Amino acid sequence: MKTEVFDLGDASVECDGCSKVYAKGSPQKGGILFESKGLCPVCAPKWEERAKRYGEEKFIRDRAAPEETFYGFVMRTRGGDNTMTFTTFENKDEFLKHFFGGKKP
Ligand SMILES: [Zn+2]
Repeated sequence: MKTEVFDLGDASVECDGCSKVYAKGSPQKGGILFESKGLCPVCAPKWEERAKRYGEEKFIRDRAAPEETFYGFVMRTRGGDNTMTFTTFENKDEFLKHFFGGKKP
């Protein structure tokens, strides 16, 4: 059995509204977290306005600090965990043993 951890989010972040990619070090400031969506500085004002109109401001969980970049904001809201762990197995028996304790499911 082999476990590998991949760092996914270090190079860039993507806006959940318009899918624009903001690379690490990109200078654009701002953004909001609407439920679990990270919305970039271009999208955020539209979402803020719509939330206000429909009384959905409670869904805005966080906002970028005044000098915070969108990239930095998304990294912060993720709590610094941008990794995904993959576990691979040598063969079927090793897999079954790991998940089912050797018993056939
Ligand atoms: Zn956007």
